[in-house]
Amino acid sequence: MRMEPVSRKVAYRLYPSRSQEAALLDMLGLHQRLYNAALEQRIAAWRLQRKSLSAYDQMRDLTDLRASDERYAGLNAQSAQVTLHRLHLAFASFFRRCKRGETPGFPRFKAFDRFSGWGYKTHGDGFRFVPGAGNRHGRLRLSGIGTIPVRGRARTPGEVKTCEIAHKAGGWYASLTLACEPQRKGGTDAIGLDWGVETFATLAHEDQAFSAIENPRFFARMKARLESAQQDLARKAKRSNNRAKARRRVSAIHRKTTAKRLDFLHQRSAKLVAAVDLIATESLSIKNMVRSAKGTAESPGRNVAQKAGLNREILATAPRAFLDMVRYKAVEAGVAFVEVPSRKVKPSQTCSACGKQRKPVPFRDGTGKALSVRQHVCSCGLVLSRDQNAARVNLLWALARTGREPTGCLAQFA
Ligand SMILES: [Zn+2]
Repeated sequence: MRMEPVSRKVAYRLYPSRSQEAALLDMLGLHQRLYNAALEQRIAAWRLQRKSLSAYDQMRDLTDLRASDERYAGLNAQSAQVTLHRLHLAFASFFRRCKRGETPGFPRFKAFDRFSGWGYKTHGDGFRFVPGAGNRHGRLRLSGIGTIPVRGRARTPGEVKTCEIAHKAGGWYASLTLACEPQRKGGTDAIGLDWGVETFATLAHEDQAFSAIENPRFFARMKARLESAQQDLARKAKRSNNRAKARRRVSAIHRKTTAKRLDFLHQRSAKLVAAVDLIATESLSIKNMVRSAKGTAESPGRNVAQKAGLNREILATAPRAFLDMVRYKAVEAGVAFVEVPSRKVKPSQTCSACGKQRKPVPFRDGTGKALSVRQHVCSCGLVLSRDQNAARVNLLWALARTGREPTGCLAQFA
């Protein structure tokens, strides 16, 4: 298990005095002029000498500029380098787009009101941040400007590394990069994950076992409560006190459902990350979610369809939120998080034993209605539930991709 520091960004709002605000605007102007001058220099070097200037060339010239122009001499040297580096990045993506044959979009001169800000590379060189009590708010000292009160909060304390100052909609903001010690620990298992309809998720483990995260029962309970509260609301006379009361009840149930869902997702994602050192999941695009919704509509039996509809309604935003939680918790714990490109890998159409790909052919009932294929049956002899097979395909793909050998029983499938 790796315990490398994790990089985190924390945003603060600045509350400068009137004179500090004027100094901030001056500094913004200096960086803007530096950016435009460096762009002009690159264009001229190309026109006159067919020479592509590098960021390194320009940083060397910056030293001369700082020696000859006292306004720039007052600018923090590293901070000026950050601005030159931003121009370098603009050119790098311009060349990348050219190479790919996309609309190139040559780097543009920036007007003062379109210039977003500047950055610092090292804590203690040009800026210093002192957090307030309990890691809330604090003070930011910028050389040439002074000490500015800031508001914001770092959820995880860490060592301040870099700082970016941004001017947006008349306000001033600082984005600090912190190196945080991971507060979370992973485990040793590797799992593949597939989203289900009947279950919240199916997990394939490295030792060839399967498990599932069940849909919590309270979803159904909250749904029933919500329905009766909504019917109640519909029966109340318009603009009556009782109606207002009923409406408050409906929104209270909504709030409670949201809170419970978040709580469920937090608990499950924390438990999952604590057990593993690798998680493989299909990438969750909107398309995938639509596909699984279509899958439910194909489900046989009215009861099943109703239940699936219920799950779909309440869980509609859950997979995305769950994956986001798993991802950031995995980062905190140093756990590998692999998103399997499902469009390419096609986990639900690929056999986890022999690798053969086959479009699932839906069976049809007596009336010709398509039934969903819940079983994976392959000519190689493998019979699994479709979700289990897909979860295992995700796991195998991620193991191969991260250079880890499948162990135990999975080795035969590699
Ligand atoms: Zn097979």
